[in-house]
Amino acid sequence: MFAVTIDGKAGCGKSTLADELSKILKLKKFNTGAVYRGITCEYMKQFGQLKPTLEIINNFVKDLAVDVIFDGNTQKIVVNGNDYTPYLRDEVVSNFVAKVSPYNIVREKVREIQRSFAEYNDCIMEGRDIGTVVLPNAQCKLFVTASSEVRAQRRFDQLKDTENAPTYEEILNEINDRDDKDVNREHGALLPAKDGIIIDNSNETLEQTVNRCKKIIEDKQKEYNKK
Ligand code: C5P
Repeated sequence: MFAVTIDGKAGCGKSTLADELSKILKLKKFNTGAVYRGITCEYMKQFGQLKPTLEIINNFVKDLAVDVIFDGNTQKIVVNGNDYTPYLRDEVVSNFVAKVSPYNIVREKVREIQRSFAEYNDCIMEGRDIGTVVLPNAQCKLFVTASSEVRAQRRFDQLKDTENAPTYEEILNEINDRDDKDVNREHGALLPAKDGIIIDNSNETLEQTVNRCKKIIEDKQKEYNKK
């Protein structure tokens, strides 16, 4: 099977990029952050905002049933029978997910699901450690980045007309905090694969980034098809 991995920092447009590329190139898209978010929703259902400990997480994961269901282009996340799809991007989940996702036992559970998906589908999988840990033999590995100021500005522009919109400084602080947690954790740390291609989109439009990545992936597909 042919796999493209897209790893990168929060808010650098990975998800939109993966969506666009999967449509153009007819590759199935798997959003791995959504799985961590779904598991976090179930954690919060059971424990509220109680800070996880290794003991709590070990017990929690023991009885965890995670289903990723593809319904057309929608990826649904059902955990212990609860469909969390509508709640995945709630602010409270975004703020808590980094407390649950670093645990190795959680990551092992998600890794199994990710690998079995890539075994049966030509896919684009986006996340943090896909090119490095989950699918190290993927044919094409992209690492997307943009400066934290650019990412904060983009997010600010998206939110500025909404109720209780955060300030630019609040968004920037949150982005820096998330980067720090993603980069410095022990398991599944965010870093480019050795053979990863860095895509800095700070000064590009989405269309420019899509076109650049499309070309890279098509070249890798040609190489793959020759083998
Ligand atoms: O990509 P997204 O922002 O939805 O990811 C939410 C969170 O899930 C990240 O901040 C990170 O803590 C976790 N995550 C992860 N590994 C991945 C994808 C996401 O730890 N492959």
